[in-house]
Amino acid sequence: MSQHVIALDQGTTSSRAIIFDANGKIASLSQHPFAQIYPQPGWVEHDPMTILYTQLESLSEAFRASGLSAADIAAVGITNQRETTIVWERETGRPVYNAIVWQCRRTAPLCEELRRGGWEEKIREKTGLLIDAYFSGTKLRWILDNVPGARERAERGELLFGTVDTWLIWNLTGGRVHVTDYSNASRTMLFNIHTLQWDAELCEALNIPMCMLPKPVSNSEEYGTIDSHMPGLEELSGIPICGAAGDQQAALLGQGCIYPGEAKNTYGTGCFSMMNTGTSVPVSRSGLLSCVAWNIRGKTNYCLEGSVFNAGSTVQWMRDELHLISSAEETQTLAESVPDNGGVYLVSAFTGLGAPYWDMYARGTLVGITRGTTRAHVVRAGLEGIAYQVRDLIDAMEKDAGAPMRILRVDGGASVNRFLMQFQADILRCPIDRPVMVETTAFGAAFLAGLHAGVWSDIGDIVRIRESAHIFRPKMDAESAQHLCARWHKAVERARDWE
Ligand code: ADP
Repeated sequence: MSQHVIALDQGTTSSRAIIFDANGKIASLSQHPFAQIYPQPGWVEHDPMTILYTQLESLSEAFRASGLSAADIAAVGITNQRETTIVWERETGRPVYNAIVWQCRRTAPLCEELRRGGWEEKIREKTGLLIDAYFSGTKLRWILDNVPGARERAERGELLFGTVDTWLIWNLTGGRVHVTDYSNASRTMLFNIHTLQWDAELCEALNIPMCMLPKPVSNSEEYGTIDSHMPGLEELSGIPICGAAGDQQAALLGQGCIYPGEAKNTYGTGCFSMMNTGTSVPVSRSGLLSCVAWNIRGKTNYCLEGSVFNAGSTVQWMRDELHLISSAEETQTLAESVPDNGGVYLVSAFTGLGAPYWDMYARGTLVGITRGTTRAHVVRAGLEGIAYQVRDLIDAMEKDAGAPMRILRVDGGASVNRFLMQFQADILRCPIDRPVMVETTAFGAAFLAGLHAGVWSDIGDIVRIRESAHIFRPKMDAESAQHLCARWHKAVERARDWE
């Protein structure tokens, strides 16, 4: 029986393909970075054909490098940068405009209009989202409003909309299958996360013809098979595509967070936190997002999501602007070289503060400096500041979910930092678990596909496959942790409402 699964991991800066065996071990990996397009300040685009070709190239390279034959491959799973919006011609597959990337702010005025129109509460209630230019709805509307003839053609059924999962599946199946999975759909601002259907009222409010929307489908089922005409993929023709999820949701699954109260945090440039909240839709009072985590075998799991805008970027800032360190790794030894922060706190509100503080006017602040403050104290304060922000985010998640977080599983570039992870465990008062295999996003997608294809039989298998490399347990006494957090909150007050 075929025992390998291919994950296509279509990210913001590169397309990757990773082949996993049934034990979750990587058999081969291929990656192709691609160009970012910045037509104006605040605008970000990708070429949809480049997304496709880099993805296909990675796929065929990873397959060839693995030395496997097509008979060894049970299925393909997809994970992708979420919210990025593509519109193409049904007949030819030609995109009518570049992909508008999730980071693109061009539709901020449209979002303002929706807010003024009093849509906030309704959108929050139906979609679990805040009104923001990140989400696909206003990006799609922008294309329809700005590409000549697009709206009329869309209304005639000539154009199709998709997020990147949809775009890849449509192309891989030779234009036969137009679907999106529930987790990606839940980031469009057009999707009702209670009924798991497109919302007619929201589509009307955004003036989007529903005939161009893909069919929402579960995260683990056969969507279609690889078309025999795909260039370079002839050998893989007929292999089923059986799973898809947006990158953060795939990482949540890939980290084995299958029970309520289990959470993951990715320590990258920013931090992305997600907590599994079980089968009911969570309602946030602190500005977190509620999303579909996944729907597997008819059961829907929801999650809460939040982010820290500046995490690893604080380390970059200390390296590139302040020249306090020459490499990111150095932060660990420097932070550990002093017994404590010396009373110094660094609030990295470079671009304001997100959940749960929500203050766009906050700015970066370094407080508590004395004549005795050293470079090590400042660097330590920088790392601690990341951990405090994650703690406050998770604190908000616990309140919204009405249940404590049981474990935090971590990944991302800065999760290799031993000091940061230990300090995080100390102030969160819960264990932090770092896995051996850090390709959690890709593995989540592979697992969704392999679960349907029979490589794995039960969602619990992912917990059995995942191996912890290290578990950091709280060592600091509760009173000290509480004192530090209280001082941190005082520092946050100083950073607020500045600009
Ligand atoms: P992204 O996917 O957002 O590009 P990565 O997951 O690749 O991010 O992580 C890179 C970030 O992690 C950078 O901002 C870098 O400063 C930070 N980083 C990398 N290694 C370390 C380390 N040892 N200690 C602290 N931060 C680190």
